[in-house]
Amino acid sequence: MRDVFKHLGWFFKQNSKTYIMAGVALVVLSSTSVLPAKLLGLAIEAIANRTINVKSLIFYCLSLLLIPVARYLVNIVYHYTVNKLGQKLSFQLREKYIEHLFELDAVTYSKYTKGDLISRATNDLQVLTVVATSFLQTVVFNSGIVIFAILIMVFTIDPILTLVSILVMPIAIFILNKVRMNKRKYYRKHHEIYADMTEKVLESIEGVKTVRAYCQEENDFKKTKQAIDNDVNSWRKILKFESAFTPLFEFIYIFTYFCAFAFGSYMVITSRISTGDLISFIMYVGMLYGPLISLSSVLNTVNNATISDTRYNEIMNIVPEVKNDEASIPVLDFKKIEFKNVSFKYPFDDVEVIKNINLEINKGETIGIVGPTGSGKSTLIRQLLREFNVTSGQILIDGVDIKNYKIEDVHNLVGYVPQSHILFRKTVDENILVGNPNASYQLMNQAIMLSDFEKDIKELAYGRETIVGELGNSLSGGQRQRLSIARALVKEPQILILDDSLSAVDALTESNIIKNLQISRKDKTNIIVAHRFSAIYKADKIIVLQNGKITDVGTHDELIKHENWYKMQYIEQLSNK
Ligand code: ADP
Ligand code: MG
Repeated sequence: MRDVFKHLGWFFKQNSKTYIMAGVALVVLSSTSVLPAKLLGLAIEAIANRTINVKSLIFYCLSLLLIPVARYLVNIVYHYTVNKLGQKLSFQLREKYIEHLFELDAVTYSKYTKGDLISRATNDLQVLTVVATSFLQTVVFNSGIVIFAILIMVFTIDPILTLVSILVMPIAIFILNKVRMNKRKYYRKHHEIYADMTEKVLESIEGVKTVRAYCQEENDFKKTKQAIDNDVNSWRKILKFESAFTPLFEFIYIFTYFCAFAFGSYMVITSRISTGDLISFIMYVGMLYGPLISLSSVLNTVNNATISDTRYNEIMNIVPEVKNDEASIPVLDFKKIEFKNVSFKYPFDDVEVIKNINLEINKGETIGIVGPTGSGKSTLIRQLLREFNVTSGQILIDGVDIKNYKIEDVHNLVGYVPQSHILFRKTVDENILVGNPNASYQLMNQAIMLSDFEKDIKELAYGRETIVGELGNSLSGGQRQRLSIARALVKEPQILILDDSLSAVDALTESNIIKNLQISRKDKTNIIVAHRFSAIYKADKIIVLQNGKITDVGTHDELIKHENWYKMQYIEQLSNK
């Protein structure tokens, strides 16, 4: 509980004035809500005694009318202010969260699912916002009513009657607290189940086309429905719990009412309090019901908030393994990149995917990488993006370990075209500009031309203004590949990496692109992973990767001189032409 408020402390500090104002408004609201009962009791007493005159009647009537009107006005201001505050908090928490997600390295993304990360930014964040806003209202407003009502009961009616009538209250609250604490485990589980459901629904949406193509709607629906059912069932458990003890509270409450009425009537008969007092008193007991129910759910809210706070901060507290430190140095260009005995295994795997790699990449060279699927080609070249730290060995840029350079600088050196192409729901132009938001029109034109994407744009309904995207994908696989290449080219990177990025284009287009790159990127470095040897046979150096190890290095001519995997594949590809 304390942790939740400690973690949100910065926000309370930042908005302390608004919080003070809201607090004052709540005190005003709660204190004024107990006044009418007292006034009504006094009025009834005066009417019963026939001591009421026109002047005091007008006073009672006007007060009973004006108090709600004034409360209404304060309420408007209060709710507007507090809702705005809540919006502000959820916006700021979400912004911090997303900012942090960008800082995290691939280790985190291998550990958490998308659905889980989303549910923390939606469901859990919502709970935290509630704690920082309406929780205040629950606590201040309701305790205000309870305190003011009890003060009036004690000081203006009768302390003994008050004590006898509401003695059961603290006992009731104590019992409720104890029972509710047990519910914590259900709530924690519920958050996990909710995250799982989010993940399944997300998967269904993303995979809708594949699912439909394989007529797997029913199976997919079953899977998602199961997740939704789990969610509902876990809620049901919480509800069962809730239903079991809410009546308990009501029972205790009715007992309080009984005590107030029985003992109060006795006091009226024995002339210790007036009839008006008894009416006010009974009204106050009635008034305590709502606030007490709300106050008893405070623990519930706090339980929930503690769980959400832990879940939110679990992500916020992750310190990425790959990160800049103060000693990180800039790098804008390079002459030589060396892999020295580099081995790497994915964080949650046991076996090394690339083993003992020694490799030299000089500025201006074109490197081809070939090898069977799963041999570690993507893993190897992605080391240059510093997604993970290498498990052993070193990657040196001009003799300095890649770990010592600023990550952004290393990223800026590289234009990476991945195997799977992420398009944003934006226009073609905007998708290309992701590579370099400052790219000139001329540079974009050139990139489109070099990636042989020009002809496709002509076919698109709105040309470069056509909206493309993941789900409504209006582009073919090959077109997506070329858009991705154009995106990398507008960056004008020192190192261009094509990771099997030409697999979906026809041989002629591939040869056009390769030719274009050879000319336009003559002085820069290119790393091309390809299955078709036609894409790499002119490379300065071809690396053959098998089972995570480099088994051959050389030019095409050198490699086909002796019997090896490269030659075998080359002959196979020639005969298939
Ligand atoms: P290639 O690009 O040569 O087809 P990859 O580098 O993609 O090969 O994959 C090499 C091996 O690493 C494969 O066995 C693959 O299952 C595994 N692998 C790839 N990416 C990941 C990942 N993110 N987490 C765990 N294992 C991975
Ligand atoms: Mg690959």
